[in-house]
This record gives sequence, structure tokens and C-alpha cells, in this order.
Amino acid sequence: MTVVGDRLQPTIFERSRPGRGGGKIPHPPNDALGRIPAGALRATPAALPELAEPDVVRHYVNLSQLNYAVDTGFYPLGSCTMKFNPKLNEWAARLPGFAGLHPMAPDAVAQGTLQLLFELEELLAEISGMDAVTLQPAAGAHGELTGILMVRAYHRSRGDTDRTEVLVPDSSHGTNPATATMAGFRTITIPSAPDGGVDVEAFRAALGPRTAAIMITNPSTLGLFERRIGELLEATHAAGALAYMDGANLNAILGRFKPGEAGFDVMHFNTHKTFSTPHGGGGPGAGPVGVRARLVPFLPAPRVLRAEDGSFRLERPGERPRSIGRMRSFTGSSGVLVRAYAYIRAHGAAGLREVSDDAVLAANYLKHRLAGTYQVPFERACKHEFVASAADIRHRTGVRTLDIAKRLIDKGYHPPTIYFPLTVEEAMLIEPTETESLETLDGFADALIEIAREAETDAALVTSAPHDAPVRRLDEATAARQPNLRWRGMTGALLPCPD
Ligand SMILES: *Cc1c(COP(=O)(O)O)cnc(C)c1O
Repeated sequence: MTVVGDRLQPTIFERSRPGRGGGKIPHPPNDALGRIPAGALRATPAALPELAEPDVVRHYVNLSQLNYAVDTGFYPLGSCTMKFNPKLNEWAARLPGFAGLHPMAPDAVAQGTLQLLFELEELLAEISGMDAVTLQPAAGAHGELTGILMVRAYHRSRGDTDRTEVLVPDSSHGTNPATATMAGFRTITIPSAPDGGVDVEAFRAALGPRTAAIMITNPSTLGLFERRIGELLEATHAAGALAYMDGANLNAILGRFKPGEAGFDVMHFNTHKTFSTPHGGGGPGAGPVGVRARLVPFLPAPRVLRAEDGSFRLERPGERPRSIGRMRSFTGSSGVLVRAYAYIRAHGAAGLREVSDDAVLAANYLKHRLAGTYQVPFERACKHEFVASAADIRHRTGVRTLDIAKRLIDKGYHPPTIYFPLTVEEAMLIEPTETESLETLDGFADALIEIAREAETDAALVTSAPHDAPVRRLDEATAARQPNLRWRGMTGALLPCPD
């Protein structure tokens, strides 16, 4: 099956014509094939497409232009912090000393990268109020797993082996319960109070000698700062449990709230959210984890150490016996970490605080503009994102949040996050970030308001959207469950890689 709209194009295999090619790459000497052992030679030639270089370039550039990207438009995905990525970071990450370093290079020739990693750990510790940081995890979810494995190691090291439960609020990101499960814990879900915060009574009732940790996202995925955080952390520690903070929403609180000082024991950062690594295409990212002193012995190995003479080196195997071990190859996604470092250094302390202030201002502005048209279930000021609901519109007109999201594509905008958090009916989670202009915010608000009007006057126009996209409505369940990612049409294409 092929889905072809007007702007889609044939695959590169379908464009192939036998014998065509760029012709600029020197061919191997005639006897090259003769030197390969017969058993290692393939029976049939690989089914590779044959095209001239300009056709290859145009094929991929045209494909790239079917994509929506933060460099081409506003990207208001909530719980994602899709901010503009300064090109300065890209320059820094491509410096040959960073980009060309071999991952097995001896410490002596990797001093610049080791210093950058060491300093980035220090910067993140300062930003979060934590005592130490590991840069190894590949993303936020991986950081969660790293953090919870350290919690497990901590309890075990004290002989405290009956702690089998992790408490998670119902508004949390799906990765939180998934992490608890992967680390061998049972997840206990805590309901939200009517104001969107954690229900403290339910929390206290669930907390006890079986609780290993609580995982709290602050500000929450509803875009609300957890006002009772002091009370929750005090109760957690009194019960002998540890407190994990999901730091995905750090963009809202830089320079204003330090989780470590507030009493959290461990947290992760999403450098690809808060610290401007490009994301949305599936990686790579980085999910550094910060810990307070009592978890430092358990940090993944190897850590970057600074010797007395000021030089840097990686820990040697076995040097820190209580470490949970390696979470990722080498020192993590180092190119991504260079970008995070460049971003933090370019902003400085005052600049980072301004990032958060502007992100919060932009979110509250958009919320205010949409409040008369969509329901905003939580009245109080939001942080960096807010939830709007189309439940009333749906009951009146039949138009659902999914339809509104699709119609936004016609109007030139990427839709916000929809149907998350699960606790709000017909939810849209909208996060503008600090990098968007007033004109962009107004344009987006106008588009959403216009769609609400269309829902009342011409619901079919909205429910059949998008009308002006490369493809119309896709069957999302089939796309996710039976992804069709391989082209099978060309003769011989099936031979080299059997199922
Ligand atoms: C994005 C996000 C995560 C997961 O982070 P990844 O880097 O995508 O793995 C976890 N929790 C929250 C609240 C998030 O928004």
C-alpha cells in the first residue's frame, strides 16, 4: 500500500534507473573483488537505487520540506519544550576537537572534552541544587531509570529490602510508571486534588514502610507548580523513602527553584528540552541525573574526575565499588552535551532566569487569550505550559480535540500535545516556550479561536481536516502497530535481508 498525496513523491527505489550514478567516486581496482574470500561474496548484487547525484540531493531536500520543524514554524507541543535551537550550539558541537574525538581516545588527548563534561556536571549541579551529576543517560526516560536504580541500590545497601513500591501522581508522564516497573517496583498511582496538585491525603495514605520512592514532576504536566511540595517531601523522608523529581519541566523554574535545596534526592534533566538540543526526530538526546550526597556513591561509572594538577581523567573500572555501573557506552551523547554546555554558558545565570520568566509569561499570555473560547480547567497562573479543553465544543458540535489539531495543520501550525494529561477531557497541552514572538503567539491564538468558530458554523470542515497537507487523515493505530518502513518492490530487494 502506498499513500500518495499531491506533494508526495516516489521512493528513491522507484526513481532508480539501471546504470545511472554520480560517477565521481573512484572505482576500486579491477582485482579488488578477487581479494575477497569467495565465501564472503554475495550471490546477487545489493538492491541499491541508481540515480545521478542531483536527483539524490533533490529527492532528500524535497522530502525534508514535507517535514514540519521548529526552524520552519511554531511548535507548541506541551511537555516537550520545543524551543528554538541557537545555531551557535551547532557550531560548537561541530568543532573538530569535539566532533572528531574517538570515543576510545586516551584521557591525555581528550582533555578538552573531559573538561567540558566536568564543567557541565558542575553547572547542572549549581542549577539544580544537587551535589553531583552524571551525564551518561541517553534521554529523560533513561535518566529516570538511572535514578530509580540508584534509589534501589541505596535501600539495598542499608538492608532495607521491603521497599517495593513507587508512588506516582496520576498526571505524570507515562515514562514514570514505566521506569518504576523496569526497576522492579510496583507503581501506586496518587490522584490529583481539584486544584491540580497532588492529593495530600491520598498521598499520606499510600506512603509507608513499603515505599521506596515518590516521583513528582514539578511543575506538573498540568503546568502547575506543586504548592505543597515541602509537605510532600517531609512526609516522604519521614517514611524513609526517597524523592525523585522528574525535571522535564525545568524550563519553567531556572534560577527560581532548586530541587536539591527543596529536598529532592535525585532528578533528571532533559538537555533536549531545557537546554536547546534539537529534538522531535527521535534523538539523540541526553538525560543527565543529579543526586544529593547520599546517592553519590551509586552514580554510574565512569565519572569524570579532576586531579590535583588540574588534569581530567575517567574513573577506572572498579574504582567506585558501589556504583550501579554503566548506563550507556562511553560518556553519553557527548555532541548533545556540548550543545547544552554552549547554551548554558551563552546565557549565564541571569539569562537562564530570564528564559524561565519569558516562558512563563508566554504561556500565561496564550492561556489568557484562549480562555474565553476553550475551557482552561485550572484558573490559577500556569508555569511554562497550560491545559485547555475542547470538551464543551465537543458536546455542542461533535468536533473533537483531534479534529482541532488536524485543522491547525491547514492553518500552518503544528498541533499542541493532545489527550495528555489523561486527567483532563479533550485536553490540549500547550507550551509556547520563551523563544516565540508576540506576533507568533497571537497568530496561533487567532487560529485556534477561528477553528472554534468553524466548529460551530461548519463542523464538517474541521472533522475532515487536514485539507492542505501532503497526506489527509492517517490511520494512526495501524501506523503505530504495523509500521510499513521497508520498500519491497524492487527485484532482489528482499534477498539481502530476510525477515
Ligand atoms: C519528556 C518527558 C519525559 C521523558 O523524557 P525523554 O527525554 O523524552 O525520554 C519524562 N517526563 C516528562 C514530564 C516529560 O515531559
